[in-house]
Amino acid sequence: MKFNPEKYRIPDEPMKPFIDADEIWEYINNAKPTKEKVREIIAKSLDKHRLNLEEVATLVNTTDPELVEEILQGARTLKERIYGNRIVLFAPLYIGSKCTNNCQYCGFRTENKSALRMTLSDEEIVQEVEALEDNGQKRLILVYGEHPEYSADYIAHTVKLVYGIKKGNGEIRRVNINAAPLDIEGFRKVKEAGIGTYQIFQETYHPEAYTWYHPSGKKKDYDWRLTSLDRAQEAGLDDVGIGALFGLYDWRFEVLALVRHTNHFEACYNVGPHTISFPRIKSAAGLNITDKYFVSDDDFVKLVAILRLAVPYTGMILTAREPIEIRRQVIQFGVSQIDGGTKLELGSYHESKNEQQDLNKEQFEINDNRSLGEIIDELIDHNYIPSFCTACYRLGRTGEHFMEFSVPGFIKRYCTPNAILTLTEYLVDYADENVKQKGYKLIDKTLAELNGHQNTEEIKRRIERIKAGERDLYF
Ligand code: SAM
Ligand code: SF4
Repeated sequence: MKFNPEKYRIPDEPMKPFIDADEIWEYINNAKPTKEKVREIIAKSLDKHRLNLEEVATLVNTTDPELVEEILQGARTLKERIYGNRIVLFAPLYIGSKCTNNCQYCGFRTENKSALRMTLSDEEIVQEVEALEDNGQKRLILVYGEHPEYSADYIAHTVKLVYGIKKGNGEIRRVNINAAPLDIEGFRKVKEAGIGTYQIFQETYHPEAYTWYHPSGKKKDYDWRLTSLDRAQEAGLDDVGIGALFGLYDWRFEVLALVRHTNHFEACYNVGPHTISFPRIKSAAGLNITDKYFVSDDDFVKLVAILRLAVPYTGMILTAREPIEIRRQVIQFGVSQIDGGTKLELGSYHESKNEQQDLNKEQFEINDNRSLGEIIDELIDHNYIPSFCTACYRLGRTGEHFMEFSVPGFIKRYCTPNAILTLTEYLVDYADENVKQKGYKLIDKTLAELNGHQNTEEIKRRIERIKAGERDLYF
């Protein structure tokens, strides 16, 4: 057959960016939710299909209270059907508050002259991590401002340092990162240091709004940030977390943009983002934004449910920025990870500092100040199994949220047993008598529900081995 170059001609026009604000607004402006449509879309998601932008636009435009309730119920049902009752726990560890950017919503911005600027020394990192281990933490996310001091080499150094810190039975088994965008070489370095997820939030996906909030510093460059996790993929780091800071621009736009970002990863790399985060703006020192786009509690609850339905196989992270009541409510929609025992002030895990937050020493206000122990206590009361599982990541089973979702029996075979084993470790090493009793009762109940998916006798044997002193057993 004759080669036909015309067939392979690449058009001369420049490639369209994967976020096209006009296109997103067109979807929102044209979507008209009817009962039939909304129900059809919920059913599609419950049938385990990701939603397209037109469908997501229909859901974000839904205001009829009866239909909104159906959306919330759809998200609850999806969670119950697919994900079961595990919640993975982690804690943030702020390493450095120096920053050359001027994000108008952040306490670390350059113009906030009263902010305390510091970087933990290696010795302080050791003290902090030991204190976190003493509380029972096994998974951390290290957080950094954007500053020449926090180079890829430095981030890699801190990651390796944290993995090496062991106190008693304590150890950190997964270190995630929330830091500024790196170049490809930089992402390669942090991957080699053994990080789990690299998280970067676009803050707002709307290019014009982005320029209002990021007037100077490297973060001013929308495209450099938007393409950052593509560079991570180029570097072989495919475990990435995306997010939008809700309150900067119309929340409906951000929801569609998060779904578009997810499509982009799937189309280009065959794997979606590992997690989606949806922080809401909280009070911060020198906060310099209006409340025009602030998201009400009702809209927040709705948007989390819509995200669950839109990308049913992606991990969802809910943080202590939100008050206890909202955390309780939103967890039902399939949130997979929450933080517990969170402290934002640098150095505050090992030194008891004031209970009252001093916003000049912290990035923003948190609204759930409970200790990890209190959160675990409540999760157990509400029938959730607190999990510190890190098995997939350590066994190289990447894309675990997708597997949980798409491989029949995956959760019962791996996730639930590993949640049980990591909870057992917690109960033996860190829990008080009352939580111990409740925890073992929940474990017995959960074992009874495994219905032969995993060898329950083997799980019971491993529980006994943990009680006898072994650690880090997983499937
Ligand atoms: N400097 C890194 C960067 O900008 O990517 C790390 C980011 S910061 C330590 C983590 C996230 O906190 C930001 O990406 C932003 O979404 C969020 N954040 C900043 N100010 C906030 C505020 N006032 N309320 C809630 N979240 C905030
Ligand atoms: Fe710096 Fe990040 Fe705060 Fe912006 S959000 S000022 S980059 S720490």
